[in-house]
Amino acid sequence: MGEKKKKIVKTIKVDVDKCNGCRACEVICSAFHATPKYSSNNPARSRIRVIHDPLKDVYVPVYAGEYTAAECTGRDKYTIDGKEYDECAFCRASCPSRDLFKEPDSDLPLKCDMCEDDPPQKEPLCVQWCITDALTYEEREEEVEEEVEREEMEIGLESLAKKHGMQKIMDTFARMSMSKKG
Ligand code: SF4
Ligand code: SF4
Repeated sequence: MGEKKKKIVKTIKVDVDKCNGCRACEVICSAFHATPKYSSNNPARSRIRVIHDPLKDVYVPVYAGEYTAAECTGRDKYTIDGKEYDECAFCRASCPSRDLFKEPDSDLPLKCDMCEDDPPQKEPLCVQWCITDALTYEEREEEVEEEVEREEMEIGLESLAKKHGMQKIMDTFARMSMSKKG
């Protein structure tokens, strides 16, 4: 058993009914993560994407989650209010079966980092820019096992390195840390 330590759990709540599809969240997320910061915006680089289907009158903000080296063998179909949605429509994974949540140039996976910044942002930027309050932010404290966390990080790194090669991963980390300083 590893040692217990306190961890801040950050949650963004999504109220789909309030989202009007303005995509301000995509714009600010991609600008915040541009190198240098705010130098450009391109929703394809955003770590939140608004899945929209105007015919079904639906706008669903989806956050970029974990990278996965292989697509899953099972699929889900959702029916909401009598309307059926595509398989994988609301999935958060950066996955080989689709282009979502990948850097357009490098193909490296994108993942929401809750706008980690130094000094910290008062709230994630997509939440600050969402004027309809479809996105709201909450923090709470939880106790977690330190060991488990480290193990999960190692498994994630190993599968990334297998797919992209270690050098590319190192270059990306170097670029990310430069953009944090900049
Ligand atoms: S900023 Fe808010 S209302 Fe606009 S698309 Fe994003 S979640 Fe929806
Ligand atoms: S919390 Fe930050 S990194 Fe995550 S989607 Fe929102 S703006 Fe992007």
